[in-house]
Amino acid sequence: MPQDHGFHRVRITRVVQETDNTRTYVLDAPFTYRAGQFVTVRTCGTLRSYSMSSSPDTDDELMTTVKRVPGGLVSNWMHDHLEAGDVIETTRPAGAFCLRETAVPLVALCAGSGVTPILSLVKSALATTDRRVRVLTANRDAGSVIFAATLEELAGRHPGRLEVRHHLDDRRGLLTEAELREFAGGHPGADFYLCGPVPFMDLAERALLSLGVDPGQIRVERFTPAPDEPLGEERDGTVTVVLSRKRETVGQHSGETLLQSARRAGLTPPFSCESGHCATCIARVTEGEVRMRVNDALEDDEVEEGWVLTCQSEPVTPHVTVVYED
Ligand SMILES: Cc1cc2nc3c(=O)[nH]c(=O)nc-3n(C[C@H](O)[C@H](O)[C@H](O)COP(=O)(O)OP(=O)(O)OC[C@H]3O[C@@H](n4cnc5c(N)ncnc54)[C@H](O)[C@@H]3O)c2cc1C
Repeated sequence: MPQDHGFHRVRITRVVQETDNTRTYVLDAPFTYRAGQFVTVRTCGTLRSYSMSSSPDTDDELMTTVKRVPGGLVSNWMHDHLEAGDVIETTRPAGAFCLRETAVPLVALCAGSGVTPILSLVKSALATTDRRVRVLTANRDAGSVIFAATLEELAGRHPGRLEVRHHLDDRRGLLTEAELREFAGGHPGADFYLCGPVPFMDLAERALLSLGVDPGQIRVERFTPAPDEPLGEERDGTVTVVLSRKRETVGQHSGETLLQSARRAGLTPPFSCESGHCATCIARVTEGEVRMRVNDALEDDEVEEGWVLTCQSEPVTPHVTVVYED
């Protein structure tokens, strides 16, 4: 497995309690990264991705911010067990939820922990461009707004450039499509960045599309993988998956990725972003050929060696064998 996609041991230098159920972990990690990217943490025998809340343009330290998810394995373990001085394993930063070079306004719509990559983007946009920035956060109540003080302080330092609005459910009820349209309207040429729970993202995307925003101007970061598409038609051919000394073969279905085939075969392959950015699902094709829909993680020479992102790879030959490294 290429070293670049391996895990690195990094020390936690500080832990900051942001709200009752949200903590920032300041990492002593020598990584270069872009605003909006994430690292993938390996712990509890599994993998979870966490976005940077710091900006490479304004912060000396690298920070990830984690909100407890009720019943969730890793977020609760991190909150309950990790302290300054502890060491965790993470990948290098990855992800494509980043700024592009442009002067158009940036409009960010986020909810809950979705503010994490948004804060990173906002800090970088303010520090490195003259762009106007508008941020809408949606939360249950004032106590659950993450980074309220940081955003207020940034708005104070950039008057006329940064506008922040907090929607609080306990005051105004659940956020509506009309409120999102009202906030986002008036900036037809802006870049829009969306991050939050699935229902929030769906609502925000609907609101923007109904305003006539070009889908190419909408960037989304999904914290929860999109549900698998229903199984496509069965076709001739097989996919053989080798994982943890198990070898399983299933028939091919049109439109199915190697990751989906592996799951259908009853295996539990590694994955995280499911959008071709993080390389957590990397494996090597040893027989046959595949086509990757998106590849934002592997270099050309790695692809030539047979490495693929299984979440993005569809077979193009009748028999494909894919091997996950232990
Ligand atoms: C690119 C990316 C960036 C991210 N950035 C951040 C970030 O910056 N900050 C952040 O806080 N999060 C972020 N996330 C989300 C994060 O990776 C985790 O998904 C989140 O912390 C929950 O993980 P968990 O292990 O605590 O919960 P999980 O154990 O995965 O559980 C999630 C939910 O499923 C339920 N559940 C679990 N098992 C079962 C079961 N067997 N049956 C029914 N329900 C079940 C749990 O009760 C819980 O509600 C990001 C995700 C991605 C993909």
